[in-house]
Amino acid sequence: MESSASAPGIPLYKQSGKTGIAGPFTTFLFPAIVGSIIAVAYAYLIYWIPFIYLNFILTFVFGFFLAILVNAGAKAGHVRSVPVRFIFGGLGVLFAYYVHWVAWIAALGGGWILNPLELFPALKVIKLLGTWGIGRGEGTAVSGTFLLIIWIIEGLIILGVGILSSMMSDLIYCERCHRWTSVYDSLGGADVEGAEALFDGLDRGEAEILGTLKPVSPGASQYLKVDVCRCEKCQDLSAVTLKHVEITLDDKGKEESKETDIVEGALVPYPVADQLIRNFDGERS
Ligand SMILES: [Zn+2]
Repeated sequence: MESSASAPGIPLYKQSGKTGIAGPFTTFLFPAIVGSIIAVAYAYLIYWIPFIYLNFILTFVFGFFLAILVNAGAKAGHVRSVPVRFIFGGLGVLFAYYVHWVAWIAALGGGWILNPLELFPALKVIKLLGTWGIGRGEGTAVSGTFLLIIWIIEGLIILGVGILSSMMSDLIYCERCHRWTSVYDSLGGADVEGAEALFDGLDRGEAEILGTLKPVSPGASQYLKVDVCRCEKCQDLSAVTLKHVEITLDDKGKEESKETDIVEGALVPYPVADQLIRNFDGERS
């Protein structure tokens, strides 16, 4: 199924660009404070663990933790603005990244150097003399340009994962009630039978057609993944996200699933979302 209807006829949820008064602070402080604690743990772990591949996995994990913290801070501060998320979340991520350098030098035995004016010269010395390496303890320290490249890659992963993935929040905010909506991502898979008619209907702006989605029978190789967000307080805001999922077996017989976005955050009348949830509730045990 190649069709990836974008449902031009149906309005999509868009962040309002507004921010709660505390928003910039919480978005900065969550990654800066909690992220710094994780940064110290990360610095000591990469110092103790001599396996470079494991270190890189930890680098990604550190980046993901920072992204989660930016999102948590933005959620706590009612931030519905990508620039606020980017600037203040980004500053918080940079702060935690800096703390990781401080802790790493401390782990190496250089003491806790907090001042950047002293930290950078210390890093220059480490770059010159070399440090841990692939095969630490056998006298093969990594130094010079190679070490610098590793540091740059590490920095790009932490800042890239930390800042960019925190931009991709799928939460929906009710401007009327000043609250985030609940997510019903457990609605599960819908039958693709009649999907063409569904896409045509969406193209024509017929949101009601989403209420016709029915649960897929178990073991199907493709289905539509249905997520519903709605504000139960005012019962006036509901959004549906649809993804096409196809499950294939690779040559080793292992399942692989491929997701294609159909429509993201389509604003639908509350009764339509209600109908949709009831369609799936009946089947869920
Ligand atoms: Zn509401």
